[in-house]
Amino acid sequence: MGAFIDARNVPSGTVIKPDLAIIGGGPVGISMALALAASPLHVVLLESGGMTFDAKIQALYEGSKVGAPYLTLEATRLRYLGGSSNHWGGWCRPMDEIDFEERTWMPYSGWPFGKKELNRFFVKAHSLCEAGALLYDGGQKWATKQLGPVLPLGEGGVTTRWFQFSKMRSSTLPTHFGDRYADDLRRIRNLAVYLHANVTRLGLDGAGAKIAELDVATLSGRKFKVKPKAVVLATGAVEAARLMLASNDIIPAGVGNTHDLVGRFFADHPTPRDTATLVVFDGKLSPFYQSNKSVHGAIMRAGLFPSEAFRRSHAVMASSITVESKVELDDLGKAAVEAAAAAVGVDAGDAQAYSLGAGMEVTPDPDRRFTLDTERDALGMPKLKLHMRIADADFARFRQTLKELGRQLLVSRAGLLRLNLVTRDDWLNSLDWGNHHMGTTRMDADPRRGVVDANLKVHDLANLYVAGSSVFPTYGAANPTVNILALALRLADHLKKVLR
Ligand SMILES: Cc1cc2nc3c(=O)[nH]c(=O)nc-3n(C[C@H](O)[C@H](O)[C@H](O)COP(=O)(O)OP(=O)(O)OC[C@H]3O[C@@H](n4cnc5c(N)ncnc54)[C@H](O)[C@@H]3O)c2cc1C
Repeated sequence: MGAFIDARNVPSGTVIKPDLAIIGGGPVGISMALALAASPLHVVLLESGGMTFDAKIQALYEGSKVGAPYLTLEATRLRYLGGSSNHWGGWCRPMDEIDFEERTWMPYSGWPFGKKELNRFFVKAHSLCEAGALLYDGGQKWATKQLGPVLPLGEGGVTTRWFQFSKMRSSTLPTHFGDRYADDLRRIRNLAVYLHANVTRLGLDGAGAKIAELDVATLSGRKFKVKPKAVVLATGAVEAARLMLASNDIIPAGVGNTHDLVGRFFADHPTPRDTATLVVFDGKLSPFYQSNKSVHGAIMRAGLFPSEAFRRSHAVMASSITVESKVELDDLGKAAVEAAAAAVGVDAGDAQAYSLGAGMEVTPDPDRRFTLDTERDALGMPKLKLHMRIADADFARFRQTLKELGRQLLVSRAGLLRLNLVTRDDWLNSLDWGNHHMGTTRMDADPRRGVVDANLKVHDLANLYVAGSSVFPTYGAANPTVNILALALRLADHLKKVLR
């Protein structure tokens, strides 16, 4: 072991028998392989792509979509070693305690464990992202000392909180997990990384109780099998659903799909542009709101977030509000600012206006889902069809947070907010997305509500685990990757115990 193997050179008919097969060499698969380096387990990592982008391999990600506007499936992720970290933005933030809780206003909410179950994995997850010291909101004291005060919002539901960035190695690029960790993977003696190795089927045993074999195919026509003791599916949320649904030779509904949940509850973070215009009466806004700043061993940026107390009291979901670009107000806008400033007794002669962006959580929806399509890809696998939906209630709830921010600005006499999006069409026309695919194999202790259990093991199957944001039952508004890695490291610990 301890090698990178080009699967196009593996003779057809070969059978490989490791202890563990990890399917997918994105941040999750790579982090798990690194975490299992010191274990006695023989691990194979099966990665569809090579070391760089290849259009023919990328085309295996094509699919179709109906319903609300969404991104093109082959453009919203990347299929080679390092996965979508090859073009991620590097924004990081751990989820909040409340994101794990059952909430009466949030259907299907409640993770099987609280945030404290993940806390011990964040330092390592963070260092894998090369995101510097784990400061986040605790870094505010250094940021303000160095760069200026936070917006004086006074008492209320919205506060300044902090992102960090995976940009410690260079000032411009976040960590690309494939490039960054290839040499570390090569050094692991109990690991073999197969590149150009597409898993096309999760093969159940005759009883349908465990995964007996994986079919692997290359675009050059080679076909071989892997017969592992256990399997971790780390292909990202879209492909995890596809592989499970398409592996339907023994059980027609697909692997792990006894309760028709696989592919359902798909989610992403809507990131509407220009949701509101922020006017700061005295024109002074510290630079960390608009761009990343180096602070005390981390690269940080401030956002405006609803507090956990406000989320509870006003039944709103998670969100983050970011200050984007400076904007010029028209004459009517300027007059409104002057009138508002006069009404609260401050001078607005130097007022500055900014466009606000956002990242929103959406309500879990079983009908926002993937199904298999009739078309097939170059390896004969059915493509996916996305049925996209987004509820008006999600926009309405986020507007409540914006309104609270506007109220606080006026009460504290710091500024005002103009809400720019009113109708459903306004919202849909302004929508962009985080490219954060979540929810297609949701986690719940009850097999009727979840595909995987609290250990990320597929209910009713002895040896199939799913690692990635597909297991998120609810989504929060935090950028997912550092949270996924914490979950993956926890799974690696679990596998070390159960597979030894
Ligand atoms: C444009 C963009 C910007 C983003 N920005 C951020 C950000 O700022 N912050 C953040 O937290 N997150 C961000 N993300 C999301 C982040 O990239 C993902 O959370 C992360 O990559 C998920 O890691 P993963 O390993 O679960 O899946 P992926 O990165 O999707 O990796 C899956 C891997 O599995 C392989 N694979 C797929 N199917 C098969 C198969 N059948 N057989 C074998 N291998 C297979 C793929 O080739 C790929 O390498 C962004 C994503 C995009 C697209």
